[in-house]
Amino acid sequence: MLSNRAGKIKPSPTLAMDAKAKAIKAEGSDIVNFGVGEPDFDTPDNIKEAAIKAIREGFTKYTPVGGIDPLKDAVIEKFMKDNNLNYTRDEIIVSCGAKHSLYNIAQALFGPGDEVLIPSPYWVSYPDQVLLNEAMPVFVKTYEADSFMVKPEAIKSHITNKTKALILNSPSNPTGLTYDKKSLERIAEIVAKHNLYVISDEIYEKLLYDGVMHYSIASLDKEIKSRTIVVNGLSKSYAMTGWRIGFAAGPKEIIKAMTNIQSQSTSNPTSISQKAAVEALTGPQDFIKNMLSEFDRRRIFLIKELNSIPGISCITPTGAFYAFPNTSKLYGKSSGSIRISSSTDLALFLLEKANVALVHGGAFGDDNYIRLSYATSIDEIKKGAGRIREAVNQLS
Ligand code: PMP
Ligand code: GLU
Repeated sequence: MLSNRAGKIKPSPTLAMDAKAKAIKAEGSDIVNFGVGEPDFDTPDNIKEAAIKAIREGFTKYTPVGGIDPLKDAVIEKFMKDNNLNYTRDEIIVSCGAKHSLYNIAQALFGPGDEVLIPSPYWVSYPDQVLLNEAMPVFVKTYEADSFMVKPEAIKSHITNKTKALILNSPSNPTGLTYDKKSLERIAEIVAKHNLYVISDEIYEKLLYDGVMHYSIASLDKEIKSRTIVVNGLSKSYAMTGWRIGFAAGPKEIIKAMTNIQSQSTSNPTSISQKAAVEALTGPQDFIKNMLSEFDRRRIFLIKELNSIPGISCITPTGAFYAFPNTSKLYGKSSGSIRISSSTDLALFLLEKANVALVHGGAFGDDNYIRLSYATSIDEIKKGAGRIREAVNQLS
């Protein structure tokens, strides 16, 4: 019999959709995959070379659990340079992806009886990681009219004496919104007043458009820094999803507990990936600029396409690489015997009838939407958008 804990969670819906789309493709079907949030760019050569060198030099053994010192130092330098945040080595942990850092945080902080505030729509793994630790996710609804930014008053009204933490994600997956400094200041005030922690997932911080700036809530003042664990990683900025390197920075006691947990689970992140990560963070950075200008081109194209399809409307995201269009006007319509009454129905309809893979909004906590990742070529986006238009036109 499985544990109670295992029974409470589901597989990651984004990874599940990606696996499904890839399986259909492997059968020879010409599917357009807007499913998974993974850059279609190759990892830059200088990073690959650093890994090859590490293998050749025999850097293939256990390392310190929380990461090698040169990598921790590169992470410290990154926080200083990008976020004006000052950390020491004992305030940093390197994990097997940002997802793993987040998991370690959940293990270190949450337990039975705790409530964790999650603005909704949310990234798929936050609630399940809270549930895995037998704590309770409490969703704070956000609205398209507010660009999906959580209202400080809404946070306040969900706080109880059990509330332990707030999970923030800016730029956000799935909405692509980016929090401005003023909003973060108001949130920080509430967090301090109610003695909460903030888990700030900043993995998309370098993927910003339209001149928008990223602020880490931890950088606002000392008080909020002492309550925040910042999470970041290399998957998105350096096209390194498979290398599994993420990291977190925060108060020493929490980082120590996370490191203990990691020492009893995965041990160190892969030694070779750590060497590659040092090169990613300290080597030339122009790769990001080039990838970003391509993402920007795709973003503008996709949003325009989506908004020209009757029944679909999409706000313009300012960060990450996702479009999160409102599709609720399509619900209640049918094509032959297929009736669309939810985001799940729509995603399935588009998969089966249009050969387009995307993720239903329900997976992110809002059924009125679907999520498309535009981390795929402009030709694929053109083809995919055309297919969606055609399929949606069949609904009446
Ligand atoms: N946070 C967010 C918001 C994400 O979209 C992802 C998806 N990859 C992650 C964390 C985890 O990234 P990784 O484990 O690949 O570092
Ligand atoms: N975070 C990406 C996404 O949302 C990758 C999949 C995952 O880690 O769940 O699609």
